[in-house]
Amino acid sequence: MPAVWLDGKACAADLEENLKQRISICKTQPHLAVIIVGDDPASLVYVRNKILCCERLGIKSTQFKLPTETKQTELEDILKGLNEDATLHGILIQSPLPSHLDEGSLTDMIEPTKDVDGFHPVNLGKIVQGRLNGMIPCTPAGVMEMLRWSGVDLAGKKAVVIGRSFNVGMPQALLLAAKGIDSTVTIVHSKTPQPILECLSADILIAAAGRPEMVTKDWVKPGAVVIDVGINRVSDTTRERGWRLAGDVHPNVSEVASIMSPVPGGVGPMTVAMLMANTVTSAESQHY
Ligand code: NAP
Repeated sequence: MPAVWLDGKACAADLEENLKQRISICKTQPHLAVIIVGDDPASLVYVRNKILCCERLGIKSTQFKLPTETKQTELEDILKGLNEDATLHGILIQSPLPSHLDEGSLTDMIEPTKDVDGFHPVNLGKIVQGRLNGMIPCTPAGVMEMLRWSGVDLAGKKAVVIGRSFNVGMPQALLLAAKGIDSTVTIVHSKTPQPILECLSADILIAAAGRPEMVTKDWVKPGAVVIDVGINRVSDTTRERGWRLAGDVHPNVSEVASIMSPVPGGVGPMTVAMLMANTVTSAESQHY
């Protein structure tokens, strides 16, 4: 039987309804600042989607659209002002920044309670401590919410995460292994000697490698749940624009998986929804 598709758009829409209710009783209007530097077309699309989502939910957004040549010190000054602005609950720096800017040190400057991306060392460190009520990185948090929403049982299951980035793979592995979730987790990375063997042992397989359609059906145990985090642009001459989006998981995995998330329409919408959730959580915690 082919896999059931895990509809990230529907899951995100449910989450948005819940957020609208929380916003309606929040003592202040949640307010998100979005900083974008340069003209990277994909980044412009991501920022537009985030701002549109803010508008749908009634979250105030303020955009800082800065030229490519913006200096590190200029960004630092903006961040200092945003940290001190008590009417603001979330600060997002759209990645990637131009190469002359030090993204890590800018992230470190963000006040952790306003770090709605969840990339500040304080927020990442809290995940290690099992304190999961703060700012969790949006993509792995979105994956966890999708799994909960679709009723996937994680306790005692073998989970394999492909990728160990600080923003996706590593926090994903920690969330799956957290007390109360209770999966047994393996991380596969570029130096793992036998990645296919590791993946074949997974009841839950999360692919976040950034390698188009790398995971094929011979990597997947029959009946496994497969979540595709990858978003890759691959050339496609049959399309007018000359490219299409591909995940890290090959479509033929749907022949063996029990549940599988699509690209697009899977983890992507959940990432945006979790950014909104973090912004609302920040507003709630600062005004109750
Ligand atoms: P990243 O920082 O480049 O990390 C990729 C990870 O995959 C690294 O840990 C790398 O291992 C591992 N890897 C690369 N090639 C591999 C291979 N052949 N076998 C095993 N592991 C391999 O990327 P990222 O930011 O985590 O993003 C991963 C993917 O998710 C990308 O396609 C990105 O566009 C997508 N993404 C999607 C969303 C969304 O909203 N859906 C959000 C964020 C990212 P090493 O550590 O050994 O180098």
